[in-house]
Amino acid sequence: MSSTYVVHYSEVALKGKNRPEFVRILRRNLRRALWGLDPDVSLNDGRFVVTTKGSDEDVAGRLGATFGVAWFSPASLVEPDYQKILSAVLERASNSSAKSFKIEARRSDKTFPQNSQELARMLGAAVADDTGMKVDLSDPDVVLHVDVMRSRAVVYAKKKSGPGGLPVGTAGRVLHLFSGGIDSPVAAWLLMKRGCMPVYVHFYLAPLPQAAIDSKITRLVKILSAYGGKSTLVLVPFAEYQLATAGAPGELEPSLFRRFMRMTAEALAPSFGATAVATGDSLSQAASQTLWNIAAFDAGSTIPVLRPLLTYDKEEIVSLARRISTYELSLEEYKDCCAIVTRHPRTRVKPELIDEYVRQLGLRDLVWRTLDAATLVSYNPVGDVMRSSPLLETLRRTPSLVRAKADFSTSPT
Ligand code: ATP
Ligand code: MG
Repeated sequence: MSSTYVVHYSEVALKGKNRPEFVRILRRNLRRALWGLDPDVSLNDGRFVVTTKGSDEDVAGRLGATFGVAWFSPASLVEPDYQKILSAVLERASNSSAKSFKIEARRSDKTFPQNSQELARMLGAAVADDTGMKVDLSDPDVVLHVDVMRSRAVVYAKKKSGPGGLPVGTAGRVLHLFSGGIDSPVAAWLLMKRGCMPVYVHFYLAPLPQAAIDSKITRLVKILSAYGGKSTLVLVPFAEYQLATAGAPGELEPSLFRRFMRMTAEALAPSFGATAVATGDSLSQAASQTLWNIAAFDAGSTIPVLRPLLTYDKEEIVSLARRISTYELSLEEYKDCCAIVTRHPRTRVKPELIDEYVRQLGLRDLVWRTLDAATLVSYNPVGDVMRSSPLLETLRRTPSLVRAKADFSTSPT
């Protein structure tokens, strides 16, 4: 059986000329969020009317995770006819244990015979008569909402808060370095909250990508897909990198590896239409994340590097991780994550020193050799693995990748 919900959007309403695009993307995201429930999502006079299968709890969970939603409410959908509206209002009123109420009517169809105030007054009198409930305009136990639109009307009582933010995709794509620790999933969530669509990039050491696909990385992507819908993960092997850099000083290892990750993500950006790289770094959380080492990471980058958690304390990150349900999973052991560990990493690495090792060790060419062995994993909107295939073969028909390769070999490190 299907139920109806009215869904209001938040900040998107403020976006002036961009508004139609924002609304279009939010509509697509709502459909994706309700994937598998056969949803119908239509825009009516500035709000969505959603008819979908699924239990109230399931639907509320999904709508409550869709960025751009200000609030939503289970609703009765009726023809825009006074008697039909009245029956729906009476039904909602008699289902509530409230002693006082208020009617909030909104008429966006100006051809409807009563204006908003008249409609509220008539319905208020009828509800008071029928149920014995008292009208209380200042502090009612329940507010009964009636929205009359062009071809239909909705009646609803309880508003539930959505997550706010901006619809995922409106800010474009970002290649997000994803480790499986506590921080990077939270950073992904914050990026999505502001409309970015992350493409997850994970570096693994295991001999085969399947080990990463079967690990908590996929389970974390599944949790995050509740917020972002369809996800893409690029799995990059770094065994060859380890061999190539075996002779580099140990104290530089974290900075060099992080530079290599950045270069690899940046090289991939054009083929995904991404305009930035992101990390879960938090200022001075580790030696590799001092301001100096962040500079060594960013040096030479041709696109912005985003760090949503830069100023967050670990406790703040942990509390967000719990809220978005990634915390427990992030704590699970995952050997690959700790593959690059150095006992005494340098806290002030000079960018030029890293540039020098990148040159000496031929790391730019290594980026492309590494990507040759990378795997693309696509997930459906509820986070099930749909396909995993060699990255470059999959992107072969993307001419931008070839162009990117040419540009990349002449650009700074
Ligand atoms: P935590 O700090 O909780 O272990 P983390 O995800 O922040 O988790 P760090 O070791 O602090 O892990 O790494 C800092 C950042 O570097 C990560 O947030 C992530 O963006 C990136 N990173 C680290 N390891 C990897 C990896 N194996 N693949 C991709 N990105 C990684
Ligand atoms: Mg961290």
